[in-house]
Amino acid sequence: MKNLINKDSKIMTKKISIAIDGPAGAGKSTIAKATAKELGYLYIDTGAMYRAIGVAVMDRGYDPKCADDVIKTLDSIHMDVTAKEDGQHILLSGEDVNGKIRTPEASMAASAVATIPEVRYKLVEIQRGLAKQGGVIMDGRDIGTYVLPDAEVKIFLTASVETRAKRRYKELLEKGEKCTLDEVISDMEARDKQDSEREFAPLKRAEDSVLLDTSDKTLKQSVQALIKIIREKI
Ligand code: C5P
Repeated sequence: MKNLINKDSKIMTKKISIAIDGPAGAGKSTIAKATAKELGYLYIDTGAMYRAIGVAVMDRGYDPKCADDVIKTLDSIHMDVTAKEDGQHILLSGEDVNGKIRTPEASMAASAVATIPEVRYKLVEIQRGLAKQGGVIMDGRDIGTYVLPDAEVKIFLTASVETRAKRRYKELLEKGEKCTLDEVISDMEARDKQDSEREFAPLKRAEDSVLLDTSDKTLKQSVQALIKIIREKI
């Protein structure tokens, strides 16, 4: 907040809601997290909530594509979303699942459970509750179009498929996951397709959003570009 937002900025006086949507690997969570820190806002990662449901379904030996299995799981767990020093944590019936939700299997399971309306109703209710006080940056696929249609600032963050896949591939290798770049590209394309084509609240750019392409930008440049858009909008 110190460097980029000066004293007379409205951000200092009015805590707004900022919606960030875009496809997998566009850098939404890294950029949103850094921007939230800069502004003193709460960062809410909605993808983590879909991932947590996907992992819970798989943990029970169920199929994330089977609506009955997913709804059974949904009815048997309680989700808490908490903010800690190192960011957002998801607790499922008391268990912190953050360590389990970043695998390629969890990504695909999240995308599958996200097509089921009952899952979306439950998670959107939690998401709207978290945003009620303002002062939030929330990222996902349907934030500007469905979860927070009245958000003061809406950004659609994107990057080329190659850039997005390379970023995700690097992250997975750093975490010790074994995969090839081709696998990451094909998973990403499958997920983008499923997310964009689902019937209920698909991934879609909100008409009143600002498009930000991060293909040729570093993290620092992306955060600066985002803060510039936020300041111009309020
Ligand atoms: O953002 P992230 O890649 O962690 O999201 C995982 C999956 O969760 C997405 O591929 C998408 O299917 C789903 N999702 C969603 N709506 C959101 C956030 C994520 O459908 N608001």
